[in-house]
Amino acid sequence: MKAEHDAIIIGAGICGTYMLHKLLKLGLDATVLEAGDGPGGTWYWNRYPGARFDSESYSYGFSFNKEILAEWNWSEHFSAQPETLRYVNFVVDKLGVREHMQFGCRVKAARFDDADNLWRVELTDGRTQTCTYLFTAIGMLSAPTLPNIEGRERFKGESFHTYHWPQEPVPLEGRRVAVIGTGATGVQVIADIAPKVGELTVYQRRPNWCAPLKNSPIGDEEMQRIKASYDEIFAQCRATPNGFLHGPVRKDMHEVPEAERLAFWNELYDSPGFGVWLGNYRDVLMDPEANAEFSAFIADKIRSRVADPAIAEKLIPRDHGFGTRRVPMETHYYEAYHYPHVHLVDVNETPIKRITETGIETSDGLREFDLIIYATGFDAITGAFDRIEFEGLNGETLRQHWQDEPMTYLGVQVAGFPNLITLAGPQQASVATNFPPAIESAVEWASDLFSFMQEQGYTRIETTQDFEQQWFEEVKSVYDMSLITKTPSWFTGYNSNVAGHDKLRHVIYLGGSPAYRQRIADVAQKAYEGFIFH
Ligand code: NAP
Repeated sequence: MKAEHDAIIIGAGICGTYMLHKLLKLGLDATVLEAGDGPGGTWYWNRYPGARFDSESYSYGFSFNKEILAEWNWSEHFSAQPETLRYVNFVVDKLGVREHMQFGCRVKAARFDDADNLWRVELTDGRTQTCTYLFTAIGMLSAPTLPNIEGRERFKGESFHTYHWPQEPVPLEGRRVAVIGTGATGVQVIADIAPKVGELTVYQRRPNWCAPLKNSPIGDEEMQRIKASYDEIFAQCRATPNGFLHGPVRKDMHEVPEAERLAFWNELYDSPGFGVWLGNYRDVLMDPEANAEFSAFIADKIRSRVADPAIAEKLIPRDHGFGTRRVPMETHYYEAYHYPHVHLVDVNETPIKRITETGIETSDGLREFDLIIYATGFDAITGAFDRIEFEGLNGETLRQHWQDEPMTYLGVQVAGFPNLITLAGPQQASVATNFPPAIESAVEWASDLFSFMQEQGYTRIETTQDFEQQWFEEVKSVYDMSLITKTPSWFTGYNSNVAGHDKLRHVIYLGGSPAYRQRIADVAQKAYEGFIFH
């Protein structure tokens, strides 16, 4: 039997869109299956108020197409979700790939047929499509998780996870609203809705170290200057470990006199974007002492911004140092607690007992709500894979293969799953970095790989467990060098609401984008060492 398509890509986010474009250019018959009713991925789903970039807009866009760069104008340094969704749609139309995208198609399972060398992709609506090559572009933060709290389903008011914020407007004025969760999403939504709602109660388990985003509009002239310097912007992103415009200072904190250090830290705190996290002295994220000193500096910033000292203390993390979890970037987040109608509930002091028909009951009583917003995060990186039944050789499922740890070769293939390319999957550089630049490299590498296969007349690619193990050891060795891996968060594979995800898992490659790019380029140079072709 011959497959219907050469390639199916699951997901029409920025990764799936670019992969589709490249495969079509190679002359392959490729199609995208997307659960949403339009492209955009992350930017399609996350419509909650306050959702916006934490990376500079112009460093987030695709760099590969000069026409797109010349024609698209960003209106803010950190664009809000509606503009980014328009951008993705603009790209899709500019590349002319929309007709190759099928929307409203949620993939339920994908099974490899060894005899016919094809994948059978099953949709939740009962349809099946077949392909020779299957690409996953399913996102790293696309499997939202609700909290394991008794009675959640009993609540009679409105409630949803931020990822499923409705497309139609949600009334906020005068309503009693609860937000559970204070990660990057919670912090954005809380700051945005605080002035709009009748009553807002925030349920916080572990506070995060947040820092000001310092967003501002981009005028016409500035946009022209940005366009004229795109080459330098992208070169700079390529040179930093995380693909952002901000890279570490190549000095240790203690090499710098205290007054100079403090002046620099104040400047970082007052500058837009991730500089405060990623543009700091290099030891701040590696040496516990340096990290403690910078954390104390940020704690004082929080104290200076929150009028009520008791609330300020509750908002300062005690269980981890600055930057060892993803730093939420905020706009007036701390000031939101100045509104008399905004309340902070520390669930360590007064644990949530249950959700009732009318509200949330903690150990000190019941608070009633019209709307409960779950900003409770994601079963990150592997969750979207777990929600699809991938079945490889000999009936083994990916879930079984990754039961303890995700095992991959270079983050792009899994032993026993021929012709499955896990774009932006676990153990790739894209996971902990500015996503588009990293994904551009991964997609271009995959495109070269398929061009090579076409030239050689190959129709099957697979890897081995030995190469998986080798990559796992490499991923593990860089884990040991960073303070990030000493702190439970989605970066390190934790999610308290998912069974079995209460321990460290090696889900991301922490060696940085330049090292990852070099590594995959070397593999290509060696005629794709570690891959077996037929
Ligand atoms: P998150 O960082 O995992 O935060 C989830 C929050 O929910 C945490 O505060 C967590 O508390 C809390 N929580 C989970 N289960 C709970 C329970 N049972 N009871 C009480 N609290 C509970 O998720 P997120 O905020 O959605 O962010 C995920 C990632 O998305 C970010 O790190 C970022 O990479 C990305 N993001 C990016 C942007 C942007 O670029 N602008 C914006 C938003 C998100 P604990 O900390 O105690 O577990």
